[in-house]
Amino acid sequence: MATNGKVNGNGANGHAALPEWHSTPLAEIPKLWQLHADLNASFRTGIMWPLAKRKQELAAMARMMTENAELWAKAIYADLGKPEFQANLFEIGISHQAVTAIAELDEWTAPLKPDVHERHTEWSPTVYKVPKGVVLIISPWNYPLTLTMQPLVAALAAGNCALLKPSELAPSVSALMAELVPKYFDPGVVRLVNGGVKETTRLLELKWDHIFYTGNGAVGRIIAQAAARHLTPVTLELGGKSPVVIDPTGLDLNIVAKRILHGKLANAGQTCVAPDYILCPEASQKPLMAAMTKTMEEWFHETGGKALRSPHYGRIVNERHFRRVQGLVEKSKGEVVFGEKQTDPERYAMEPIVIKTDGEDDLMKEEIFGPVFPLITIKDVDDAINFIEDRDHPLSLYVFTKNDETKQKFLARTRSGGLVFNDTMEQLAVGLPFGGVGESGMGYTVGRAGYDQFTHLRASVDVPYDHEEAVSLRYPPYTEEKVNLSKLISRPEVPNVHA
Ligand code: NAD
Repeated sequence: MATNGKVNGNGANGHAALPEWHSTPLAEIPKLWQLHADLNASFRTGIMWPLAKRKQELAAMARMMTENAELWAKAIYADLGKPEFQANLFEIGISHQAVTAIAELDEWTAPLKPDVHERHTEWSPTVYKVPKGVVLIISPWNYPLTLTMQPLVAALAAGNCALLKPSELAPSVSALMAELVPKYFDPGVVRLVNGGVKETTRLLELKWDHIFYTGNGAVGRIIAQAAARHLTPVTLELGGKSPVVIDPTGLDLNIVAKRILHGKLANAGQTCVAPDYILCPEASQKPLMAAMTKTMEEWFHETGGKALRSPHYGRIVNERHFRRVQGLVEKSKGEVVFGEKQTDPERYAMEPIVIKTDGEDDLMKEEIFGPVFPLITIKDVDDAINFIEDRDHPLSLYVFTKNDETKQKFLARTRSGGLVFNDTMEQLAVGLPFGGVGESGMGYTVGRAGYDQFTHLRASVDVPYDHEEAVSLRYPPYTEEKVNLSKLISRPEVPNVHA
């Protein structure tokens, strides 16, 4: 295990003892510019231009994840109490993305040969897809392995060199990364720095060719401002309050309850696309709560229908976030209508609850990022649409409905990063482009869309010398004949278009 951090063993209660904080020693901070300089020098040698090299690094990543799967699962458990099942599917399984990138790379990187006017066909018009250069990837603690490796897949596929800065709040995973990254990746291509605000602030002073940040919007603004000083492009993968809307006609609420709880209970609600609150007509609220209670009894029958002490359920990451979520619950003026207010302060674990309230409640002022659902009454689908559009655009919007007209209304009249009908979080399972809009972020990750973030479209032509006569129109003096010709060229026929 790494020397600058550690994964603690299981405590007496069978759960992991809480991990220690660790960082790059302060004395090494001045060396950060050296890392940046090394990666830039390496990039300039064209190290990542050959596709074979990119595939080699992607394969190394996939091996780093699969060959050390048990170590990753332990580290993730130590940081978040995440059950091994969730660590496998939602973190280690991201290695599939590296494998997909290897398979798709030839197609993704193929230069584009656009259709052009016949007078330009002999100019070899080509759009080359070139790497941006040396990129900085800053990741958060909630899916600490996934959210570092997922953007790295895209950065490597696109031919960039990268510096990784994982979260100090997932110290066991960050320490394991610090140990394994140098063993698997070419140091001329991927380097890693551990640390918190101080180290990241230093890194942000340097000029990167792209910054990919995942985390909260307040820090997202700091990143965007720092990047603006160098005109560096950024991808911001942020969060927000993702609503669940219930349009109850014809729905099987037993299935709806399972699908909602699945999204909220994964990683104890600490998922960027976790459903945050429920919008539901009054008449369907009691049946929905009853169906959720039945689901809990089924899923957690070994622990009396309660998740709190179940090994199939995680915990809040640290005391600060535990107190924050608890504070929101205490300040809420709403009424608990599902579950019970129960916590385990030693483990920072919380029993899932639903609190019936309104849009003004403290629970509705920030992303909850924990197993607490506000339940808000809506009259109908139009009421829900207005409620959502009155607020920041969410990262995900979940609409349970069997009505095609309702689906069209949500498509046409709401804005959100993703839109899922009749389930939660499943957009992630399909490999679709992923990204927020407005307060939930800018830019994309996953697959081809992620690759595009780290790619510059470099337009190129090669103008033959024997075309000199054809291009000489552009040279002064601008005779009357040339001006007349320019008029002819610059005024296309505009089609008649009516909505
Ligand atoms: P965090 O506290 O780990 O911070 C994220 C990163 O920012 C860390 O690497 C941290 O070191 C760095 N950082 C923190 N403060 C900084 C500062 N002042 N200056 C520079 N860097 C700083 O994670 P978090 O922000 O608590 O993460 C949770 C948030 O991330 C939630 O809002 C969640 O919705 C969002 N999120 C979004 C996605 C997505 O893909 N859109 C995925 C996961 C999480």
